[in-house]
Amino acid sequence: MNAPGKGGKGSTALVFDIERCAVKDGPGIRSVVFFKGCTLNCAWCHNPEGISFQPQLFFDADKCKYCGACFDACVNKAHLLHDKQHVLDRLRCAGCFACCDVCFSGALRRVGTRMGLNELMEVLLQDEEYYKTSGGGVTLSGGEVSCQSSFALELLKALKRRCIHTAIETNLCFSDAGFALLREADLIMADVKTVSAEKFAQYIGSGFGQVLENLKALEQCKTPLIIRTPVVPGVNDGEEEIRSIALLLKGLGSLEYYELLSYHPLGEKKGECIDIRRTHFTQPSHQAMLRLAGIAKETGIDVRVDGKRV
Ligand code: SF4
Ligand code: SF4
Repeated sequence: MNAPGKGGKGSTALVFDIERCAVKDGPGIRSVVFFKGCTLNCAWCHNPEGISFQPQLFFDADKCKYCGACFDACVNKAHLLHDKQHVLDRLRCAGCFACCDVCFSGALRRVGTRMGLNELMEVLLQDEEYYKTSGGGVTLSGGEVSCQSSFALELLKALKRRCIHTAIETNLCFSDAGFALLREADLIMADVKTVSAEKFAQYIGSGFGQVLENLKALEQCKTPLIIRTPVVPGVNDGEEEIRSIALLLKGLGSLEYYELLSYHPLGEKKGECIDIRRTHFTQPSHQAMLRLAGIAKETGIDVRVDGKRV
């Protein structure tokens, strides 16, 4: 795996989005930096454009206004009209992103831009006042942020120098370098998706043992910790599964709460736009989520469902 952005003076990170004024990724009003590239490949990922370590061409045909600008801009003639529909022939695409520069409608865009530390800080500091007044800050997300750990560490330190609260979102599938990040952050939000090695291999990828090992290591963690499970019907919505995960969390001294997150099919459409097929899952009902939360609560831990205490 070739992780970009090595850290240190003049280094860059590959970032695929910066969400400003976010309210779901930690306390208060936050900016969320999405690092591109992930150690896992969850079948239900709602940010599939964050999985690859390379910049990608995102094409949403539904937004096309048929102005024709991209047809002219592409020297490889990768944009075609087929049955009066705008079709992108990705086999002809050389990944130059010239078509993105001329598309005014947002139908075409480059996903993945290299940013330096100063450039990134400049964007993040625009909302410094909101962070301070709302008890918010900056969240480093992905993808898997630990894949660009050196750069991320420099970013956390720079934010800390400004007394800005920091949070890390992680899939827990990382080697030692990831722990340096966790030590530097003010809040850790980590996913535990299943306790089944078979399901992990089938729906998520490799690294099941490492995730469990890192979860165990968090028993020594002093940083406030939120553990989350995206609940995907047919995969990990069994009562035994949720009970087993909740029991694993009882040993985590700094656990603030356990959160169950309802699967949302947003990633399916995004997958089409970067030409990767995603599995279709149904959304869990609110009743089903509350039932699972009740089971988790029986273990004695604090539980939330989609951001709300139950
Ligand atoms: S990225 Fe470049 S080669 Fe690919 S479709 Fe756009 S203009 Fe053509
Ligand atoms: S430039 Fe954008 S809006 Fe115009 S034809 Fe191409 S995709 Fe459609």
